[in-house]
Amino acid sequence: MISQGIHTIDTGFVRPRFDAAYLVVHDGHGAFIDCGTNHSVPRLLEALGEAALDASQVDWLILTHVHLDHAGGAGELMAHLPNAQLVVHPRGARHMIDPSQLWEGAMAVYGEAVMMQAYGRLRPVPRERVVEAPDGHIVDLHGRILRCIDTPGHAKHHLAVYDQHANVCFTGDTFGLSYREFDTDKGPFIMPTTTPVQFDPDALHASINRLLALKPKAMYLTHYGRVEQVEQLAIKLHEMIDAMVAVALHCAELPERHAQLTKELTELYAARTAEHGWRGDRDALLHWLGMDIELNAQGLGVWLDRERA
Ligand SMILES: [Zn+2]
Repeated sequence: MISQGIHTIDTGFVRPRFDAAYLVVHDGHGAFIDCGTNHSVPRLLEALGEAALDASQVDWLILTHVHLDHAGGAGELMAHLPNAQLVVHPRGARHMIDPSQLWEGAMAVYGEAVMMQAYGRLRPVPRERVVEAPDGHIVDLHGRILRCIDTPGHAKHHLAVYDQHANVCFTGDTFGLSYREFDTDKGPFIMPTTTPVQFDPDALHASINRLLALKPKAMYLTHYGRVEQVEQLAIKLHEMIDAMVAVALHCAELPERHAQLTKELTELYAARTAEHGWRGDRDALLHWLGMDIELNAQGLGVWLDRERA
């Protein structure tokens, strides 16, 4: 789908319509926002062809954050883009220059076999091609202003990108996730993602409100695609953050905490998707959300441990 020069690219990570990257085209120049993994790079280059751009006409690769489903392919992609600079949150920059710590961190969550198959070996980005983007940093895409907004909550190294020209935001994981499989006549279903290890509910509430204050007409989520009716969705997101925190606090002192968190999150999502008019059964719910339930449970566990400390 293309709207105002914005191309949605399915990176192919995990399954169709799970993980998006975006290509913004303006006046013969391009900027990628997020890039999926090493395995996504051929798809990104193909999207350039469809947009009638040459790899040398890409000026920027902007990362919303350095989680590997967004940034894992950055080094590999940059090697194909001779004139591009990498724009990344100041807290994420060193991990793109030397990805070893990122690799180790993800290994602890996913294990080596999954890592190699899902992401491939991470390729470093040369230091001189990395631009750190603090809050308010402006990326100039040949006159089209893309503003970086510090949006902690999902991760401390997270920024969102506001495209003034189209009046839309690229939200990475800050505005939650919304799989198209859960769309009903009530619109999109949306929920926050609390992936380990930096979930911070207060910061996430504040970041969502900051994005909303820009009054964008649409959000472009990495998982997955463009959503409108952003004010309604924000209300749902705020509610769901609070509900997930309540689940976490309820499970905090229970034996087998992780199993309990997983169970209660499943119940929560089953209830909310049903309310939303989605008619899938429990197997279908776990098919689409099983991985998120596991990661959200892990992330809430890490948050509980940090709160206690
Ligand atoms: Zn993330």
